[in-house]
Amino acid sequence: MQRIALLPVALGQSPPDPELINLAMQDKLHQQYRQTLIPGLEEIVQSMSPSTQEGLLGVCLSGAGPTILALATSHFDEIAERIIARFRKENIDCQWKILEPAEGTRVSKTSDVARPATPNFTGVVAVVAALVTVAAAQSACDLVGSQTSIESYKRFQPAYTSEQTEYWSTACGDLKPSCILMPTTTQEVSAIVSILAASNETFAVKSGGHNPNNYFASVDGGPLISTKNLDQIIFDPATKTVRVGPGNRWDEVSKALDGSGYSVVGGRIGNVGVGGYMLGAGLSFMSTEYGWAANSVLEYELVLANASIVHVTEHNHPDLFIALKGGG
Ligand SMILES: Cc1cc2nc3c(=O)[nH]c(=O)nc-3n(C[C@H](O)[C@H](O)[C@H](O)COP(=O)(O)OP(=O)(O)OC[C@H]3O[C@@H](n4cnc5c(N)ncnc54)[C@H](O)[C@@H]3O)c2cc1C
Repeated sequence: MQRIALLPVALGQSPPDPELINLAMQDKLHQQYRQTLIPGLEEIVQSMSPSTQEGLLGVCLSGAGPTILALATSHFDEIAERIIARFRKENIDCQWKILEPAEGTRVSKTSDVARPATPNFTGVVAVVAALVTVAAAQSACDLVGSQTSIESYKRFQPAYTSEQTEYWSTACGDLKPSCILMPTTTQEVSAIVSILAASNETFAVKSGGHNPNNYFASVDGGPLISTKNLDQIIFDPATKTVRVGPGNRWDEVSKALDGSGYSVVGGRIGNVGVGGYMLGAGLSFMSTEYGWAANSVLEYELVLANASIVHVTEHNHPDLFIALKGGG
């Protein structure tokens, strides 16, 4: 209602008042709710206004399908690219085009109502609509959600926030993945990898999150695979070996082995994760006696880029075995 009432008034003014048009397009009744339907739109509407973007009059979600309508008088490419770049972060592909005002829809003012003379166009006719069509791309997150029952969390869900902020470096915790996938089995990891193999999205794998570098175990905009639920610790006293999932931290492994008479060549701080530490070779307090942690590994369970699952030992895949010993 607000848009219906205010927008024609705002557009009818000469010269047009950009702030009034922008206000009219906000439509506090509907847009507020509709903005949340398309990821990124809320930020676009809040950050783009006539005062922050030259040429722009206003932007909103159009009623006709997934279309973003931007009214502008100039800088069309810049405006469209800014909107598209924001959607790209959400893995949403867009196309855009300029809509010329249709013949007969021009707002005009006659200088004399009684004597319709040559139309004296107001400044509003210069307003051209930039249209951005949002092609709801099937992101890896969407595909995992629709094709599998793998645990998956999106922004604003408590489990997402808890995992996304759980990094040793707060800079890594500032990056926002498009979703966090939490497989519980190797088969689920394989299902995720097969979906990722068919996409070009950037993703990351996280174990304990102790690596301090951005984008190593953290990602902005793509899916994050958290290994947190791959947390088995199975000790076999007969073979004196322990099978450890990459979602564990070293204090959890030590705790599980308490009383067994055995220990592991684990991290010097209990909070370091198993996955990154083992792939980086691993320097332990016991390294002077047993060498790198990776020296004690007998077998890796590995999901290859083609989604197949292999058990890697020094005998069946010697090259891979060597590469994994510190190859991360
Ligand atoms: C306070 C602190 C203390 C430390 N102490 C030690 C120490 O005593 N000894 C030592 O050797 N190092 C130590 N480190 C370094 C640490 O081992 C590395 O940063 C290691 O990468 C952290 O492991 P993580 O699993 O927590 O890492 P993450 O940050 O989760 O991952 C690190 C890298 O490994 C990859 N990765 C993790 N799991 C998997 C997986 N399952 N499959 C594929 N890729 C995976 C990630 O994608 C990322 O690239 C320490 C670091 C800090 C900050």
